[in-house]
Amino acid sequence: MKTSRTSSRRAPTWRRTSTCSTGSPSADSPAEPRSRSSFSAIGQALEGAALEGSALAGSALEGDESATGEQVALDNARIICRAARNAGTTVTVDMEDHTTTDSTLTIVHQLRKDFPETGAVLQSYLHRTESDCRTLAHEGSRVRLCKGAYAEPPGVAFPDRLEVDRSYVRCLKVLLGGQGHPMIATHDPRLIEVASSLASRYGRAPGSYEFQMLYGVRPDEQRRLAERGETVRVYLPYGREWYGYLMRRLAERPQNLSFFLKSLVSKK
Ligand SMILES: Cc1cc2nc3c(=O)[nH]c(=O)nc-3n(C[C@H](O)[C@H](O)[C@H](O)COP(=O)(O)OP(=O)(O)OC[C@H]3O[C@@H](n4cnc5c(N)ncnc54)[C@H](O)[C@@H]3O)c2cc1C
Repeated sequence: MKTSRTSSRRAPTWRRTSTCSTGSPSADSPAEPRSRSSFSAIGQALEGAALEGSALAGSALEGDESATGEQVALDNARIICRAARNAGTTVTVDMEDHTTTDSTLTIVHQLRKDFPETGAVLQSYLHRTESDCRTLAHEGSRVRLCKGAYAEPPGVAFPDRLEVDRSYVRCLKVLLGGQGHPMIATHDPRLIEVASSLASRYGRAPGSYEFQMLYGVRPDEQRRLAERGETVRVYLPYGREWYGYLMRRLAERPQNLSFFLKSLVSKK
């Protein structure tokens, strides 16, 4: 077991994570050479950055399920992982809607052969996720658990918020009771409290798991957790495409708009 099982308190740890999307390149797309050069540019930018203690997130694939598309995504993701490692940071691959779950997890699995520090994202609203947590709760495995941000069909996802929360707790039990490094991505006060008590029930030391929240959402809570000795990582959309990213996120699910507006008026 790699994680320490003591309850010793550490100095507040506050980290940042930034996100970039690897988009949906396909091998025969005329845009592919431009995509490749933009990934190289990301790589070069990372090479010069001092990012120790931070992390990067990006999505692997969107809709393109062909083996070729997956290979292109994998090649691009490798460029970013290599550059991130050289810059002293790690990559976590964002999860998009359920049509991409298998291919994204396959890509993370492939990336982990060369970059075992690469993180995966799982969404508690999907029926499959508790089982995915079991698969990924092994030593060295970084897993971000979130509720999920897309409008999904009832056949694959829990339609009821309470069910999504219950699933989140079941997944927390698997991840915090396992050997990996859980990344608890939620602003939900009840789930944060449940996660904290499960962490002590399983003898987890602060630093053997972490909380993650979006930049600007519940900053007071982020500070409170960090002051309590928890590791808190802040997710920061970054780069020239931030407006498109925000609009895409809002368009995917109308509830995201109220979430965004709420965070503008509340700091708690
Ligand atoms: C670091 C990070 C990475 C993510 N990556 C992905 C990803 O790869 N794929 C994906 O599908 N989704 C991702 N998400 C989004 C996630 O799936 C949820 O859609 C989003 O976090 C909202 O869910 P929630 O758990 O925060 O709580 P919600 O269900 O939105 O809110 C629950 C409760 O939290 C409280 N609350 C929430 N916001 C506020 C606020 N501003 N002020 C006061 N109280 C508030 C309220 O009590 C609210 O009732 C990510 C989220 C984070 C934080």
